[in-house]
Amino acid sequence: MEGPRCWSCHYNFKWKESVVYFLGHKTCSNCGKKQYITTDSSKKVGIFGAPLPLIPFVFNGFGVNWLFTSLIAFLAIIIYMALIPYKLEFTKDKQPLF
Ligand SMILES: [Zn+2]
Repeated sequence: MEGPRCWSCHYNFKWKESVVYFLGHKTCSNCGKKQYITTDSSKKVGIFGAPLPLIPFVFNGFGVNWLFTSLIAFLAIIIYMALIPYKLEFTKDKQPLF
């Protein structure tokens, strides 16, 4: 899988860099241009992330013990963090959230 690219110099961001961008750092490490996450990709990230807080409740509802539930929730967060960078797209202009 390929990470997102800079809109200006097409620099291919590494996973670690993409996570940093997701957390709010917004300039290309290659050309220094500002990057904004597109509305479309931030929606995708939100859709993937939305079910995460529900995991403990769903598992608990099925009578799964908390230790196992925490393990699953932890793994889900790891997978989410691993996938986020590949779902991001950057643009030069700030886009409205909706
Ligand atoms: Zn760049």
